[in-house]
Amino acid sequence: MSDLTPLAAEPTCLFCRIVAGTIPATLVASTPEAIAFRDIAPQAPVHVLIVPRAHLPSLDAAEDPALLGAVLALARQVAREQGIAEGGYRCVINTGDDGGQTVGHLHLHLLGGRAHGWPPG
Ligand code: AMP
Repeated sequence: MSDLTPLAAEPTCLFCRIVAGTIPATLVASTPEAIAFRDIAPQAPVHVLIVPRAHLPSLDAAEDPALLGAVLALARQVAREQGIAEGGYRCVINTGDDGGQTVGHLHLHLLGGRAHGWPPG
């Protein structure tokens, strides 16, 4: 996995370190652009984080449509592989302070295996 890690990795960033394999995570899928691993504090029966390999602080910093497409495509793939595509699922990208983002590396939450209410909290 680390062979594909871009030079843009930030050594102090938690998710860069997971991408590099220096912090363990339960990997469920991987592509040249992104990885998918289980959230350490799951909020649903299936809670997977889709994380680009390149360090981008948030969605607001992500200017490459191809990279964003790769993140979404991996979310769709994982949803199918995890068996939640038929029942439905939610994708969330918390962005910035008001968005509730706590880790400063762009990530998409894939949540499924239960019904989700609206509006969100
Ligand atoms: P956010 O609040 O949107 O920035 O989401 C950050 C997510 O990262 C939270 O759902 C955390 O539970 C999750 N998280 C934090 N540390 C780890 C870790 N070491 N492995 C997996 N997930 C983590």
